[in-house]
Amino acid sequence: MITTELSNVGDIIQTQRDFFKTGKTKDVNFRIEQLKNLRQAIIEHEESIVEALKADLHKPTVESYLTEIGVIKEIDYAIKYLKTWTKPKKAPVSFDFFSYSARIYPEPLGVVLIIGPWNYPFQLMISPLVGAIAAGNCTIIKPSEIASHTSAVVAKIIAKHFDPAYITAVEGGVEASQKLLAEKFDHIFFTGGTAVGKVIMAAAAKYLTPVTLELGGKSPCIVDTDINLEHTVRRITWGKFINAGQTCIAPDYLLVNKKIKKDLIDGLEKSFKEFYGDNPANSPDYARIISQKHFDRLVNFLKDGEVIIGGENQPSERYIAPTVIDNVSLEDSIMQEEIFGPILPVIEYTDIGEAIALINSRPKPLALYLFSQSKNLQKRVLQETSSGGVCINDTVMQVGVSSLPFGGVGDSGIGNYHGKASFDTFSHYKSVLQNSFWLDLKWRYAPYEGKLPLIKKFLG
Ligand code: NAD
Repeated sequence: MITTELSNVGDIIQTQRDFFKTGKTKDVNFRIEQLKNLRQAIIEHEESIVEALKADLHKPTVESYLTEIGVIKEIDYAIKYLKTWTKPKKAPVSFDFFSYSARIYPEPLGVVLIIGPWNYPFQLMISPLVGAIAAGNCTIIKPSEIASHTSAVVAKIIAKHFDPAYITAVEGGVEASQKLLAEKFDHIFFTGGTAVGKVIMAAAAKYLTPVTLELGGKSPCIVDTDINLEHTVRRITWGKFINAGQTCIAPDYLLVNKKIKKDLIDGLEKSFKEFYGDNPANSPDYARIISQKHFDRLVNFLKDGEVIIGGENQPSERYIAPTVIDNVSLEDSIMQEEIFGPILPVIEYTDIGEAIALINSRPKPLALYLFSQSKNLQKRVLQETSSGGVCINDTVMQVGVSSLPFGGVGDSGIGNYHGKASFDTFSHYKSVLQNSFWLDLKWRYAPYEGKLPLIKKFLG
């Protein structure tokens, strides 16, 4: 391990606190330099990142560039706008505050902790780090032990390109996480499952540490009749089966208008062939399940409902074919847990009200997808449901738009990031009010006698 030894966690946090106190990270030019440094480090290690992702998830090279190394776009966005984001903003004051001026100053929080998951193990470590650097913090990152090859590469890159007093990686599993969580941080940014999210929040409560929780859940995908079928099936196939379905915002299940269900299923089958050939097991473009444990969990879901496409699997390779399941009951385990794999249940509805009621009867999802050209239907779904985000007539692409804050609501998470939202997440906005000395009206000072009518007048 090239990373900080666990026994030294307390020391490294202290070293980072000392470094933060020097004020170096408050200099905007220093932050820009470090963002450029991170960008350069990623480019230098592109090959090892791709290799590690292949070893962990059999991730196709194109997907690695698109969804992991593509984090460079976030770095560029931060570099481009950082000087604007860091400028204090004037705030308006009302007439009765005429001798004052008000400003809002963003300031870094201090030493922050970022804990990552295994499914996009590079991007989900680096993307929040971009926000932490941009906002001027010192950072400890803890990659997921389950994507062990990528964890090692991340740790190597960080150790080679950054002073550990500024940014360091701590590798390890639950024990490492818990050791870190026993310490005081100024912010904890966590990406992972809802159950562990609760553990993180409980640990943070001990020090009143603010948290960002990027969690998961079951993201529904509604398919209406008013669509371009060919585009719809391709966009669903891509969003569901990229990274073999191990994507927090993958469509978890389909809610399909009964009138179009058969055409949709036929279309999906056709697009599976178009994407992955007759046997996806031989496709270089199809990933594998991360671990035996997750493979077993997913294979268990195949017992629910009726497999109508796919279902083939190979334990030795941790391969599960792109699968569609019909006739599931809402009580089946596949409809109770986040699937997080290449299995897509299809539930039909006759009236959109049924689909909306089903969504609203469950915890608020991270993403909601709607395929429909009907403006009325779009308006109704937006108005009557709540989710972290919504993408209409596509899947997953919302995550790539830096100007859109990304995060959950309710069980799917707390807070958000990407672009300016990342800077905001890792900043404190300090309100500053300034008075001048050219006048000092006595209306608010004691003695109060005779002043009440004037104060009442002020209050309107
Ligand atoms: P996880 O919650 O099991 O693990 C995430 C991290 O927490 C890992 O680094 C792990 O070492 C650590 N951890 C695990 N148990 C812990 C404990 N008891 N105490 C302290 N730390 C602990 O999540 P995962 O399996 O790596 O990822 C899958 C989940 O993450 C899915 O639910 C998915 O939807 C969600 N996810 C969400 C997003 C998002 O952006 N909202 C992105 C990717 C994944």
